[in-house]
Amino acid sequence: MKKIIIAIDGHAATGKSTQAKRLAKTLGYTYVDTGAMYRAVTLFGLNQDPKGGIEMNKLIQSLDQIRIYFEEVEGVQQTFLNGLNVTQSIRDPKVNEFVSQVAANESVRTFLSKQQQRMGEGKGVVMDGRDIGTVVFPNAECKFFLTASPEIRAQRRYQEQLESNHKESYEEVLNNVNARDALDAGRAIAPLRKADDAIEIDVSEMSITEVFDQLHGYILSKSDS
Ligand code: C5P
Repeated sequence: MKKIIIAIDGHAATGKSTQAKRLAKTLGYTYVDTGAMYRAVTLFGLNQDPKGGIEMNKLIQSLDQIRIYFEEVEGVQQTFLNGLNVTQSIRDPKVNEFVSQVAANESVRTFLSKQQQRMGEGKGVVMDGRDIGTVVFPNAECKFFLTASPEIRAQRRYQEQLESNHKESYEEVLNNVNARDALDAGRAIAPLRKADDAIEIDVSEMSITEVFDQLHGYILSKSDS
């Protein structure tokens, strides 16, 4: 079967990464979580500033010191930043708070988009994010755009957080999801938007398996042709 590029974009907390991981495993493809890359740059910036914020100029000047890569540990893909496993820490509420501001910066986007394009050069990748079908791989063979109501997305993210160490109230999660979407969709460079040729799926009333079956069925029809 011909190897292709699968782009999954959409709003925050729509289950993009769950679907992308499962598709990559099923197809024997590489999974690239571009949100994790923006999160890792944000974490680097937060660690640079003793006041607990981000000094954008300092961060931009340090981009060449940032090395982000993915590696499997016991069958689960982990995110590394300069040799440190940051898989957990990039999900911290503090990173959630700052990531969309960092992701709006042109230098940061150029720095990460180039790496993402290199990762997809050999095809056989599932990449999830906000601008994969529009900017990073506008010629991707399969493009999806996932959406759902903000309340359902916040509820799912809240449940996930209950099972981890990061405890926020439902309202805090909802506010962050809405704020990130607004910043992501409103920025000047590579805003969050559905590519004209992407298939939009509202996952509000769908189970993970139902969404997966829909994506997988479409991909099989595309990679055969
Ligand atoms: O996908 P995730 O929610 O982890 O992404 C975190 C943030 O990274 C998004 O809210 C967005 O600001 C940014 N992002 C982006 N472009 C991408 C992926 C993520 O701007 N391709």
